[in-house]
Amino acid sequence: MATALLGEVLTKLKRGGGDGPLIECGRWWDMSAPAIVEAAKAFSDTALETCAKIAAAKEKPTWDSVCALKTQLDLQFHVLDSILTFPQHVSTNEEVRKAAREADKILSDLRVDISSRHDVYLAFQAFEDTKQELHGEEKRYLDRTLRDYRRVGLHLDEETRNKVKEINKRCATLGIQLSENLSEDKTKLYFTKDQLQGMPDDFLSGLNNDSEGKFELTLKYPHYRPVMRLCQVPDTRKRMENAFTSRCIDTNTPIIEELVRLRHEKAQLLGYKTHAHFITEERMAKTPETVVEFLKDLGNRLTPLQDKELETIKALKREQESIAASDDVALNPWDISFYLNKVEKEQFQVDHQKIKEYFPLDTVTKGLMAIYEDVLSLRIEETAALEKWHDEDMTFKVSDKESGKLLGYFHLDLHPREGKYSHAACWGLQPSCATADGGRLVPVAALLCNFSRPTDSAPALLLHDEVETFFHEFGHGMHQLCSLAQLAIFAGTKVERDFVELPSQMLENWVWEKDALLRMSAHYQTGEKLPDELISALIKSRVANAGILTKRQILYATFDQTIHSQPEVNTAELFAELCTEICRYPASPNTNFAASFGHLAGGYDAQYYGYLWSEVFSADVYETRFKGHIFDTAIGREYREKWKQASQQAKKKNKK
Ligand SMILES: [Zn+2]
Repeated sequence: MATALLGEVLTKLKRGGGDGPLIECGRWWDMSAPAIVEAAKAFSDTALETCAKIAAAKEKPTWDSVCALKTQLDLQFHVLDSILTFPQHVSTNEEVRKAAREADKILSDLRVDISSRHDVYLAFQAFEDTKQELHGEEKRYLDRTLRDYRRVGLHLDEETRNKVKEINKRCATLGIQLSENLSEDKTKLYFTKDQLQGMPDDFLSGLNNDSEGKFELTLKYPHYRPVMRLCQVPDTRKRMENAFTSRCIDTNTPIIEELVRLRHEKAQLLGYKTHAHFITEERMAKTPETVVEFLKDLGNRLTPLQDKELETIKALKREQESIAASDDVALNPWDISFYLNKVEKEQFQVDHQKIKEYFPLDTVTKGLMAIYEDVLSLRIEETAALEKWHDEDMTFKVSDKESGKLLGYFHLDLHPREGKYSHAACWGLQPSCATADGGRLVPVAALLCNFSRPTDSAPALLLHDEVETFFHEFGHGMHQLCSLAQLAIFAGTKVERDFVELPSQMLENWVWEKDALLRMSAHYQTGEKLPDELISALIKSRVANAGILTKRQILYATFDQTIHSQPEVNTAELFAELCTEICRYPASPNTNFAASFGHLAGGYDAQYYGYLWSEVFSADVYETRFKGHIFDTAIGREYREKWKQASQQAKKKNKK
């Protein structure tokens, strides 16, 4: 089966053309565990043969014999990576998830091997020496590839090259382990009804009970977040918070700290002062100093607001817990969400439990898609053309509204399951790019979220911030499908890391607009749209707690920059220190947030600041182009066109 798969995929990738999902990744969602591993190994052999061919072209290098062969290899890699490793995030079969991680290790090793091939580097170098004139993506490809070779030290001596290669392999393995530990976390906590005082009936009725009738809570978002916001019992929130920030503490703390040491060692081998210098060189920010300055400046501007907000929640806590006027109020980490929710409810008249009733998942999904159709001139229809990996996996086809031209396909998998990826994210399973024989590959994206399930008495209802998350991830999905690169490495969201969030952050603005909210809401019992007074209260509440919440993001970004600016680190100690300094309340004692901070091994190392950074740009785009014109098709279309050359745009902006 493995060889058949490989043969078919490679042939199709070469041919391209047609009007369907050419690779039909989905046909292989039910691959057996051994077949997944076998296919990964078989592809490794094929890939190394291609490398040998490229290396052999060194004497008479041409675009076709060197670069084009490598671009085909990039594309094969992308698609096989999806087929063989993506099941680790969605499969219901534990054996398959394990095999997909095994395949991930094989392919990560292979990726490092390919990127460290000195003979292939020499062939590229020889091609560059021919000074052939290149344009557009071809020119960028050559520049980028040579740059990447230098960034793994291929221009250095053999001993250094080998050291860098070993470090890169080890880092890849550690990253896979870290995310496996997080996804497979099965921690459960049990509480009596009294201990869950304040939790709504629809929440309780959706929980499992143990033999003594206690309620079972996991640390997945649909359990953790509502308890932190609504539970009246501080001790329950404390237990949840401690468990949440202790996830994988024993397994992932050593992993993160080893990653920090290895990244620093590599940076030094390559002649950089720190890993942060190594990373930011290629980002819009250019230097860690710029990043630190940016975070400090933003933080300083927010401090007065944060102070005011902290005073407010302290006053609420004093009242809630009847603390005498003569005593100080100490804020604990498990108080924050609870009192922030109270601020929204009491000062902004926003009761999220009430508002949620107007956001049944089905209505939101339909409304959201209709909005995207209007803004970006798309047509989105459910389709049976893609294979599903689970009953809850919904599949859609997207085409251009006017021309009817197929743009791509996507999967939507919205509820948590045991072993499923536990955050919200979007994957580009198949890139939008040209194939070797002049056809085009149809892009396929996958959106995974973890929204609450329906209960016996109500459909799945989304909190407003979940609607925002949905809007955000959907933006990544459409960005994947609407880009039109020639080469796979420039397709979809493969743009600079501190730019990549911009398109979806910009689109989040729609969930704060009355007309958009009306289109996405209908009370689950009466069908009534979100009433005017709730809408205006909700929109006003957008600024609620902005100081405290943004400082939290600054904490994450500062932590990430700091650990990647030093040779080694005690993550728990540093996090606790920065938390008190930046957020002005302590981290939970004896926990380590870093152990579950998946971004650190998910491609955001020394780059978490990108979320805040691109928010500045996305606010600019929204204010100058869309504000007051959120359903203007002409502006939306222009915006969509821009995605085609998104990374060039990012570079231009930086030069301003
Ligand atoms: Zn995002």
